[in-house]
Amino acid sequence: MSRLEQMGKMRERLAKKRDEVFEAHRLSEEERLILSEHDIEPEETAQKAAIADVVATLDEREQKQIQAINRALTRMELGEYGSCEVCGKEIEVERLETIPWTSVCSKHAGTE
Ligand SMILES: [Zn+2]
Repeated sequence: MSRLEQMGKMRERLAKKRDEVFEAHRLSEEERLILSEHDIEPEETAQKAAIADVVATLDEREQKQIQAINRALTRMELGEYGSCEVCGKEIEVERLETIPWTSVCSKHAGTE
């Protein structure tokens, strides 16, 4: 599998994982829409406040996960996904398979 195909697969897994977190929390369709628009156009102040309201209803673990997933998706858009934020090296594929939203390599795990 090429790196590009790998990215596409990871993107799907991240989006699915995010849906699962929302599903577990039973957010309304409207809230879900607000959150999914977040990573594309996070500009409007009112929209930001609405997102904060929705995220505030999630528990701490869910919030961290959503934030990590959103960050991973943003990094994907920027073409930075899959490289370690600490050392810049490519994150091991096995590690991405296990934790698709990670932003650091196994050597720097624990600093995230
Ligand atoms: Zn590293």
